[in-house]
Amino acid sequence: MTVEVLPGDTYNTELVANVHPPDWRPPNPAPRYNLVVIGAGTAGLVTAAGAAGLGARVALVERYLMGGDCLNVGCVPSKAVIRSSRVVGDLRAAAALGVGVPGEVEPDFGAVMERMRGIRARLSRHDSAERFHNLGVDVFLGEGRFAGPDTVEVNGTRLRFRKAVVATGARAHNPEVPGLAEAGFLTNETVFGLTERPRRLAVVGAGPIGCELAQAFRRLGSEVTLFHTGGHILNREDADAASILQRAFVDEGIHLVLDARLTRVERSADAKVLECETSRGPVRVAVDEILVGAGRVPNVEGLGLDAVGVLYHPRDGVRVNDRLQTTNPRIYAAGDICLSEKFTHAADFSARVVIQNALFMGRKRLSALTIPWCTYTDPEIAHVGLHERDAAERGVAIDTYRRPMSEVDRAVADGEEDGFVKVHVRKGGDRIVGATIVARHAGEMISELTLAMTAGVGLGRLASVIHPYPTQAEAIRQVGDMYNRTRLTPRVKRLFGAWLRWTR
Ligand SMILES: Cc1cc2nc3c(=O)[nH]c(=O)nc-3n(C[C@H](O)[C@H](O)[C@H](O)COP(=O)(O)OP(=O)(O)OC[C@H]3O[C@@H](n4cnc5c(N)ncnc54)[C@H](O)[C@@H]3O)c2cc1C
Repeated sequence: MTVEVLPGDTYNTELVANVHPPDWRPPNPAPRYNLVVIGAGTAGLVTAAGAAGLGARVALVERYLMGGDCLNVGCVPSKAVIRSSRVVGDLRAAAALGVGVPGEVEPDFGAVMERMRGIRARLSRHDSAERFHNLGVDVFLGEGRFAGPDTVEVNGTRLRFRKAVVATGARAHNPEVPGLAEAGFLTNETVFGLTERPRRLAVVGAGPIGCELAQAFRRLGSEVTLFHTGGHILNREDADAASILQRAFVDEGIHLVLDARLTRVERSADAKVLECETSRGPVRVAVDEILVGAGRVPNVEGLGLDAVGVLYHPRDGVRVNDRLQTTNPRIYAAGDICLSEKFTHAADFSARVVIQNALFMGRKRLSALTIPWCTYTDPEIAHVGLHERDAAERGVAIDTYRRPMSEVDRAVADGEEDGFVKVHVRKGGDRIVGATIVARHAGEMISELTLAMTAGVGLGRLASVIHPYPTQAEAIRQVGDMYNRTRLTPRVKRLFGAWLRWTR
């Protein structure tokens, strides 16, 4: 199958040459593989490279583009576009910092997308068929499916395995709204192929993907309407975190339609018209393009999973136990196909669990992983561990310490005061069970708290970690100070007072 990525410029030609080379000659299959991996996104690539590096015989099967969503239609292109949109945001806010920018800031959408394609092509070398071949992995380009209890078939070639891994990822969920398919819409699979800015853009779904792209397109000059079923955007996050971003969206001119249920889409001569019911009555919005980011569905179809006894759910994906073993003990799964945390770093670390468990009878557990995440809006929202509501549901009593960024010197100097650091500890102690950060660079800051949780470092200890002054990460140390101050009970204070009086 020849694969085409639009627009067919030199960057996309280079991308395809790396991650789905048209002239790829499949290797002669080994008599039997230690591991056959279906899907060469992050989960499949990490599994294949890690296993081959340990000396396993590995086959990797990819039907479309190696690198999967992250490289081709996810993290990499979105973050490259977001970078350009941040520059626009900064230039528009420059006057407040005393820097006049003459005239209107006019982003060149075509140039932004070209830059993105260049970056994607450059990074595609890491995920290339050639590189994986050189790592000792047998790469097969084509649709893989189970053809027997120990066999995967690709393009008529049969690959026999001792163990197999399903790493086929997920795709955009297409909501069933009358008229939507007829009107036509974009998803993450097609939006990065745009070369011209849509003048009016509807974004359906205010989860991380919808929010990141809504803000980016708004800054790049589109009139954006963001539709969401929930009462606030990013409903996986705490309301106090999401409301900061929601205010920023409104200030930037994003038109929010919340509590919205899309009822139909009509196509007129010059627009796509979305109709929806909301708690405030019906709403009609005319746009030029619709971008759907309304959840992800797992790629479970056509794999022959039923025939090999692998149970799955069409919405939740392949069912796995804590060792990432499917209901067929010889078959494992990793990444978006089986995880509720659909992130590249989760796919990566689930793959590491699979390598150990599948090849070395390891006992690694998914539940032992501490998986943070970040939504790369401006400000960013990053989280790790429990939210307050999770703690309440699980009956975990917590104390919460919160430091607004408006009290952090560097954030004030930077003019980036919107946000906070919030840390939850087990009640009465300092064991960190969760944290949320809303800040310009929350994604960089959350790792300190993830490290503390992973290494069992308490919040009180974080107060003794010297942070360079002034940095926004000092907010974390200051939250540690807040905890330590709670330990200064009236009795301890009285004792200190007595000692100081005595030694005066
Ligand atoms: C717009 C967007 C932005 C994102 N941004 C971030 C971010 O900033 N940070 C982050 O951590 N995560 C982000 N994600 C999520 C991240 O992309 C995914 O979590 C990650 O790609 C999952 O990796 P995976 O290997 O499980 O699946 P995938 O990357 O989906 O890879 C699965 C692969 O399997 C192949 N495949 C499927 N079926 C078959 C078959 N039958 N035979 C052969 N091959 C098959 C597919 O073609 C695909 O290449 C983003 C996602 C999107 C959509």
